[in-house]
Amino acid sequence: MKQDLAAMKDIKHYINGQYVGSASGKLFENVNPANGKVISKVHEAGREEVDAAVQAAKAALRGPWGKMTLEQRTAILHKVADGINARFDEFLEAECLDTGKPKSLASHIDIPRGAANFKVFADMIKNVPTESFEMPTPDGTGALNYAVRRPKGVIGVISPWNLPLLLMTWKVGPALACGNTVVVKPSEETPTTTALLGEVMKEAGVPDGVYNVVHGFGGDSAGAYLTEHPLVDGFTFTGETGTGEVIMKAAAKGIRDISLELGGKNAGLVFADCDMDKAIEGTMRSAFANCGQVCLGTERVYVERSIFDEFVRRLKEAAEGLKIGPPDDADANMGPLVSLKHREKVLSYYQKAVDDGATVVTGGGVPDMPAELAGGAWVQPTIWTGLADDSAVVTDEIFGPCCHIRPFDTEEEAIELANSLPYGLASAIWSENITRAHRVAGQIEAGIIWVNSWFLRDLRTPFGGSKQSGIGREGGVHSLEFYTEMKNICVKL
Ligand code: NAD
Repeated sequence: MKQDLAAMKDIKHYINGQYVGSASGKLFENVNPANGKVISKVHEAGREEVDAAVQAAKAALRGPWGKMTLEQRTAILHKVADGINARFDEFLEAECLDTGKPKSLASHIDIPRGAANFKVFADMIKNVPTESFEMPTPDGTGALNYAVRRPKGVIGVISPWNLPLLLMTWKVGPALACGNTVVVKPSEETPTTTALLGEVMKEAGVPDGVYNVVHGFGGDSAGAYLTEHPLVDGFTFTGETGTGEVIMKAAAKGIRDISLELGGKNAGLVFADCDMDKAIEGTMRSAFANCGQVCLGTERVYVERSIFDEFVRRLKEAAEGLKIGPPDDADANMGPLVSLKHREKVLSYYQKAVDDGATVVTGGGVPDMPAELAGGAWVQPTIWTGLADDSAVVTDEIFGPCCHIRPFDTEEEAIELANSLPYGLASAIWSENITRAHRVAGQIEAGIIWVNSWFLRDLRTPFGGSKQSGIGREGGVHSLEFYTEMKNICVKL
């Protein structure tokens, strides 16, 4: 059953409990972004494989999975989490090869959270009540309404490359906890951990057809074939806003539900009454962690004028203290971007910033790397000041290790600047005046606000974006809302 994942050379689809290649024989290369070398060949799904995966998922709803008790199902999901932890090093190796991110980061965030996503939602579904309403009737006997949850059906999961295992399991965990089956289309950049999870599912006793994986690209490939498949009952997507629009259109055919977690251009607001050490540490992580490839990251920093110069100087020092290096370098805290293609995009904004008259506070280019890493997608952490508010560098999501810092004079101005874009994913407010922090947080148009912190995540809380950063909320009971159909049963007494 096992595919050659130990060597990670040949990544196949996982359909109905088996690893299978593409009938077309089409393969694409999976490249290590730290050195530009090919890690593996990946099978690209055609309509045939996507159809087989969806049909398997549909059939599995009526098989043993659909008949299991909640206790049985959630016990299996605990085993999935344990299975990931038991093979922690393999998952870590695979994730770091695909993304280039430091092992120190992935071992603390990506892999443990990937496992936790199964336990958290398995426990949650067991403990969330449904509603019941008694009502009077004209004949005096009354009626009783009660709601039950049922799985939505086959869920199409389309995930990005920045936190591959974490973001994919963030969807698959609750989807399976709620009794659905899934067909996952991971990012073409990072297919390995999603493929490896098939083995863990099998070992944990997840019935065949419950978890399926098809590999490939977006448009005119596996992603589009999945969204066009009429037997998929709902889609959960994390990725770019533009892709979200395409998926939303595809889901409209057949009136299928969607959950969209999309892009952002998040603002950090730093007030003069902040704790400067905390603000620098948090802004630093929010701009540069994961090489700036975090949807919640801060690419726009607004700083109260009286502390502007000090803040810029200290963030520059912090950025210049980052150690860029490959996953195995224990001292490295910044890896490469995910691909050379993405680096082209990021570098085009680095150039645009210069063209638009920015002051390059630090970075702005490609670092010198040793010969064995020269083919990697390395970029320097970069800070700019002095750009106009309408520069594309300030309005577009760059998704690289960079931020623009601009001064403000009043609280009202800071709020207006934060709210000035069509995105509304996240924001961080730095102030020791708690009344101000509450007041500002209430007025920021974003789904997630941090006060004096960043990326502090409690999985029970609602997660998602407003405006063009998404539709719907996942996390906690909100995931259960999306992954189940609530059915009201009204009994006349
Ligand atoms: P992307 O939109 O390019 O791709 C995401 C996934 O969609 C990939 O699996 C891709 O193959 C697939 N896809 C692309 N076109 C498709 C199509 N036409 N039909 C079906 N599937 C298609 O995004 P990305 O570059 O992988 O990820 C980075 C983006 O994700 C950034 O915009 C980032 O902000 C966003 N993101 C958002 C969140 C959030 O929670 N809001 C979290 C992480 C990343």
